[in-house]
Amino acid sequence: MKIIRYADSRNHVGYAALQADGSARKIAGNPFQRLQVQSQAADVRRTLAPVEPSMIWGIGINYRRHAEESKTKIPDYPIVFAKGPNAVQHPGEPIWLPGVLPSAQVDYEGELAVVIGRTCKNVPRERALDCVLGYTCANDISARDWQIAKCGGQWCRGKTFDSFAPLGPCLVTADEIPHPNRLRIRTEVNGEVLQDGDTDDMIFDVPALIAFLSASTTLAPGTVILTGTPHGVGMARTPPRWLRPGDSVTVDIEGIGRLTNPVSSEHIPACAP
Ligand code: MG
Repeated sequence: MKIIRYADSRNHVGYAALQADGSARKIAGNPFQRLQVQSQAADVRRTLAPVEPSMIWGIGINYRRHAEESKTKIPDYPIVFAKGPNAVQHPGEPIWLPGVLPSAQVDYEGELAVVIGRTCKNVPRERALDCVLGYTCANDISARDWQIAKCGGQWCRGKTFDSFAPLGPCLVTADEIPHPNRLRIRTEVNGEVLQDGDTDDMIFDVPALIAFLSASTTLAPGTVILTGTPHGVGMARTPPRWLRPGDSVTVDIEGIGRLTNPVSSEHIPACAP
């Protein structure tokens, strides 16, 4: 099932099941518990990120060809970092180039996002996929200057500005993606394909990541795992391709759909909040 989260004309938030003809039917209940698809059409005015993450774990350098282009050795263990839930952005809404801590090096990273469906800990890889509710597209937006040169070795500052984790457009339930490491994944900027990879290039596959992240660590329902990006990031291009106001970025994953976001400069209020 393809599930969207949406706001209706009264700004009420709900879930709906996408139909083959593109329409959406209301869902009673919650994808994390029990749900029932109803016959009533959903009044979709705004499509939201399909999940409000309880936690976002990111994985760095997890595709072989991306390790090559980054001139980094293949890691012995998954490289884990965190993004805040503040970073989540909805489909179609802007990636804000930060203004108060300005960055001239904001980059895209198209990624397969795994959504954990139930509380789990110490999961062996053989049972790891049983914990997955579904999959969606993610863009692990990264301000490279704040990630690498100005961060004291910690990536979080550059990866967790507001809007730096677009998710969507829908959640595809795990039964429809039995092999998450056999998916073509592409990223386009203004229609030009800049990343064109396959999730079979992952160094640590989806079951390995769940086993590693859940080791002595509770994963709550709604945990989102960003599984790393394939080759073709802007930083590795000659010359580098940094995101600019007016750009449009699309992450396209086979069997899931297309997540598109425009790029804008942050509007800085006179006083925040
Ligand atoms: Mg990434």
